[in-house]
Amino acid sequence: KKSSLSEVKVAVIGAPSVGKSALTVRFLTKRYIGEYDHQQESKYKHEALLDGEPILFEILDTCPKSTEELPGSEIAQWADGLFLVYSITDRESFNYVRRAKQRLQPDIPLTLVGNKADMVHLRQVSPEEGEILAKDFECGFAEVAAAEQVNQVGEVFHELCREVLTNRRRA
Ligand code: GDP
Ligand code: MG
Repeated sequence: KKSSLSEVKVAVIGAPSVGKSALTVRFLTKRYIGEYDHQQESKYKHEALLDGEPILFEILDTCPKSTEELPGSEIAQWADGLFLVYSITDRESFNYVRRAKQRLQPDIPLTLVGNKADMVHLRQVSPEEGEILAKDFECGFAEVAAAEQVNQVGEVFHELCREVLTNRRRA
């Protein structure tokens, strides 16, 4: 991988409808937008300061058509870091993340994200299960709501990017 020091490539992985695009758009625009492209994989470039340092973020918002479609190895090859996103309201999406991780076997920083935390009344996956899976993956974990909590989504992205930069400097 030949990313320059100030470039961070992140892929957003997860089953259909967990909120990958909502989280991506939330991070990029600080807004929750109902209208965006739901049908296609999209790549975004976004310049922003991280701890005072200018960073070029590249975000790949993946778009599997079904839970049968797992991400290909080229994604983990391209990315510096991965978001593994499930919905706390969708048990199958939690299983998807597990299968995707197994398939990719990534050796890059990961963050496990349980989205739709605002929908507690429809919860199918407990926070404890998320924590246990993150421990298994040896990665960070957060429950978030793309629909709310602007700063929280930004902070989760930034935390992953800090880890990417720290690893790169160590290498
Ligand atoms: P994707 O297929 O993973 O990209 O999922 P989308 O971003 O298209 O979101 C799927 C649906 O879930 C949309 O109707 C979103 O408005 C909704 N959604 C996304 N994030 C949240 C969230 O945090 N809370 C709630 N309640 N709905 C969400
Ligand atoms: Mg999408």
